[in-house]
Amino acid sequence: MKPALTVRGTATRLTHGGRTPAEHHGFVNPPVYRGSTVLAPTVDSLLNYRQPYVYGRLGSPTTAALQEALRELDGSAGVLFCPSGLAAIALALQATLTSGDHLLMTDVAYRPARRLCEGVLNRQGITTQWFSPSLGADDLRRLINPKTRAIYLETPGSQTMEMSDIPVLVAVAREAGLLVIMDNTWATPLFFDAFSYGADIVIQAATKYIAGHADVMLGIVSASERALPLLREYHRETGLCVSPDDAWLTLRGLRTLAVRMRQHQENARHLAQWLAGREEVQAVWYPALETDEGHALWQRDFTGAASLFTVVLQPAPAQAVAAFLEGLQLFGLGFSWGGFESLALPFDCSEYRLAPPRQPVGPCVRFYIGLEDPDDLRRDLEQGLRRFNAERD
Ligand SMILES: *Cc1c(COP(=O)(O)O)cnc(C)c1O
Repeated sequence: MKPALTVRGTATRLTHGGRTPAEHHGFVNPPVYRGSTVLAPTVDSLLNYRQPYVYGRLGSPTTAALQEALRELDGSAGVLFCPSGLAAIALALQATLTSGDHLLMTDVAYRPARRLCEGVLNRQGITTQWFSPSLGADDLRRLINPKTRAIYLETPGSQTMEMSDIPVLVAVAREAGLLVIMDNTWATPLFFDAFSYGADIVIQAATKYIAGHADVMLGIVSASERALPLLREYHRETGLCVSPDDAWLTLRGLRTLAVRMRQHQENARHLAQWLAGREEVQAVWYPALETDEGHALWQRDFTGAASLFTVVLQPAPAQAVAAFLEGLQLFGLGFSWGGFESLALPFDCSEYRLAPPRQPVGPCVRFYIGLEDPDDLRRDLEQGLRRFNAERD
């Protein structure tokens, strides 16, 4: 027996977590166990679930390997899988809230999460109140009533990238006995340690950085000891599961997460800084930039920045923005992000916030910076801004 290394750094955990080659004839990676039926050696084992795996929906050695690797990475008590990040949000909210409950949600939450609250949750008698990401302790206390059961945070927020003071909000939430739910898709556990900041439940769209290759849809819900039983029960009762192939691809993506994140961050900073200096650009919303309103909070609480940010262009007609984006050679136009390839997404800021956004806004474009050579990306954007200018005049 080799002596166990008790303390493992993040990159080591990512490369070694959940791997048991000795159980797989020495092969480095676990195989994809595809299956529904799992045979039992005896009636007792079958009927009393006395074996690690009993039915495909309830897990396989492939999903268990991913669970173990993620649990070691984020320090949670347990991890559950859903067919998408949005389904993970639905699991977290539906398993913990019930008719009559009141939820507080940041106004910059991922838009489909908002729609879930306005739709299904609302019909089930769960009410949601949205709050500004810059909310302070006293304002939060005023929003809490006897029916308030949970607070939902996403920092930085989707599209506007606004930061919240997480320790302040979590302290008030804990004082009031609320469950703290966080969407940590942007930062991943590498750049924000959500559980050490008091989260009970952490959601991640593994579709994005964790799987990392634009080839998988998968959602993760990680939970503390306190929240796990509720989630487990709901997950099992509603039959949520993921395919072993998707779990395997996610596990494969996870192995290189540290090195990918380092490069994504470096490329994104380079381009965000360059864009911020252009006269066509009014603002770059990216907490890693010193000029960003949320920079101090990001610097205090985060250990790195993802490669997703928003650029606010100078006022221009829609065809100027289209000319800019449609002619890009390296940036694709498309939803989602987290793969190896760069993307651009134009959006109307007023659709993403109930309250007015933090400043008068021109056309907004969310950029996702991939793993291409940053100089090539810069030249692509430079040519795009030339087209933008030509259509603007
Ligand atoms: C993409 C995303 C989700 C949803 O993930 P899907 O796998 O696309 O359903 C949730 N939260 C955030 C912050 C996201 O960016």
